[in-house]
Amino acid sequence: MSERFTFRIDETDGSARTGCIAMERGEIRTPAFMPVGTAATVKAMKPETVRKTGADIILGNTYHLMLRPGAERVARLGGLHEFMNWDRPILTDSGGYQVMSLSDLNKLTEEGVEFRSHIDGSRHMLTPERSMEIQRLLGSDIVMAFDECPRADRPRDEIARSMEMSMRWARRSRDAFDAGGEHAGRAGLFGIQQGALDEELRRVSAQKLIDIGFDGYAIGGLAVGEGQEAMFATLDFAPAQLPWDRPRYLMGVGKPDDLVGAVERGVDMFDCVLPSRSGRNGQAFTWTGPINLRNARFAEDQGPLDERCRCDTCATHSRAYLHHLVKANEILGAMLMTEHNIAFYQQLMQGMREAIAQQRFDRFAADFRRGYCRSKREVPVHEP
Ligand SMILES: [Zn+2]
Repeated sequence: MSERFTFRIDETDGSARTGCIAMERGEIRTPAFMPVGTAATVKAMKPETVRKTGADIILGNTYHLMLRPGAERVARLGGLHEFMNWDRPILTDSGGYQVMSLSDLNKLTEEGVEFRSHIDGSRHMLTPERSMEIQRLLGSDIVMAFDECPRADRPRDEIARSMEMSMRWARRSRDAFDAGGEHAGRAGLFGIQQGALDEELRRVSAQKLIDIGFDGYAIGGLAVGEGQEAMFATLDFAPAQLPWDRPRYLMGVGKPDDLVGAVERGVDMFDCVLPSRSGRNGQAFTWTGPINLRNARFAEDQGPLDERCRCDTCATHSRAYLHHLVKANEILGAMLMTEHNIAFYQQLMQGMREAIAQQRFDRFAADFRRGYCRSKREVPVHEP
């Protein structure tokens, strides 16, 4: 276990918890939302703007960075923090999910995954050991174990076999991470629970991870098309199978109402491309639900995106102007909309943290659900 990684729970309210992860590069207030900085950038945002929205940590993608510009090159340039000018914590994923969803696959064996780059067709091999090495070269603060994430609708025996292999990969990830010298003493390593929607497989997976021992535990294999009802049903048991006193991270989630329901069930950390991707596509999240700025009804609407939002976009620009920028495909439209969406997500997390601290999370969640109207059109969540 890393000595420079601590997690403190300050208050609980039902299953919801609020606290803080303390690391060398700064504190992460939980529940936390991590904007996704896929290719060493949260698309359309300067790092200082990301920070200004209230984000304590961002996520970087091993798969993308290993292919371009390459982990060894980032290391020579001083590491990911210096390269992109973000001095606060960075979590890197292991590359497992994206190599399987994005690359021209690939041979999956006990050793790891062989694949061709989606950029130039070059051949690569990703193993637990190589994933740990890449994340160390990047200088990641929270390193994710290498795993396989099968589709939730695969037969149970296939899910079970995949989970068992991911747990052997978790052991190899732990060993390789621990051999990483100075970096291992500074960074934290998270294991990833698998087992799809199956309570018993999830229990077995959690126990194997606990036996290995990690700084935090992720719930993987959700938000892959199973729908909110099935996800919540799994979250009714999965977080409680993981250690109470370690952070729990639900990977790739989600919409604002997903976040509220998951915090209610004991999750501490999230990441998702939805606020940034939606921002680039003209969709804004508000306390009354998502709105599409392409819609003609905003053409002469002089109000802000959201009356309650405290972001710079809402303070300075009207829906009418944003409608125009989005319709005209102006780059500034993507920038302003992304800034609002990331800020909205951070305000939602802040609201949940305060409600938990004041023992009024039930009321917060009820008020949120009463005001928030879900979009009928489902938007894919994961960024392949
Ligand atoms: Zn705003």
